[in-house]
Amino acid sequence: MKYKRILLKLSGEALMGNRQYGIDPERLSEYALDIKEITELGVEVAIVIGGGNIFRGVAGAMHGMDRVQGDHMGMLATVINGLALQNALEDKGIKTRLQTAIKINEVAEPFIRRKAMSHLNKGRVVIFGGGTGNPYFTTDSAAVLRAIEIEADVILKGTRVDGIYSADPEKDSTAVKFDQISFKDVLLKGLKVMDTTAFTLSQENELPIIVFDMNKKGNLLKVVSGENIGTEVNV
Ligand code: UDP
Repeated sequence: MKYKRILLKLSGEALMGNRQYGIDPERLSEYALDIKEITELGVEVAIVIGGGNIFRGVAGAMHGMDRVQGDHMGMLATVINGLALQNALEDKGIKTRLQTAIKINEVAEPFIRRKAMSHLNKGRVVIFGGGTGNPYFTTDSAAVLRAIEIEADVILKGTRVDGIYSADPEKDSTAVKFDQISFKDVLLKGLKVMDTTAFTLSQENELPIIVFDMNKKGNLLKVVSGENIGTEVNV
């Protein structure tokens, strides 16, 4: 395996499968099997889960809701997704811990870096819920932050597209996919990989990001073994 410890970022929308809202149990189960495959090969897996399938603070603010209030709802949505993912993983016999950035002690452990690292050393999958615990941030920022904190080798951003393109491939037929691209070129070309805060944090800490299609069975294993099927952003 090319990577020993990974941080997998899954957006909330990825959990919807073909639905318009909420969680698709089949999609969760497929993800769980993919994750199981790599843990059995000794890869240490931490996961940051989004909440966009349930609630986004920005969307609430557009309808007149207080932004911070909406962000709190969004963070709680990520905890709901975290619980669902934990359940799906444990269903497949994987040992897990859910740690949250907002304390909900009856439901999950609070985020404690040393504990998280100890769980990973013991082969448990650690899911980080609640984002960064602060409004005005995203779960992409949480993914980068946690990845740095737990000394992950790479962030794997599992999406519905198979990498980063020069333009939107759904709108522009001349769009080409990059196999590799530098942080600098992403900025120069104005490409969108993560929000600016998350991206800058990754760049400053020289933490590579791989964007890949998580919806194809076996892709996670390919990426972790070093096969170049997505786009790698690196220094
Ligand atoms: N959120 C937040 N702080 C964080 C992470 C998330 O306030 O550190 C809130 C924010 O409202 C966001 C929502 O939680 O819109 C869901 O997260 P995100 O949009 O990143 O989820 P994804 O797009 O990955 O599904």
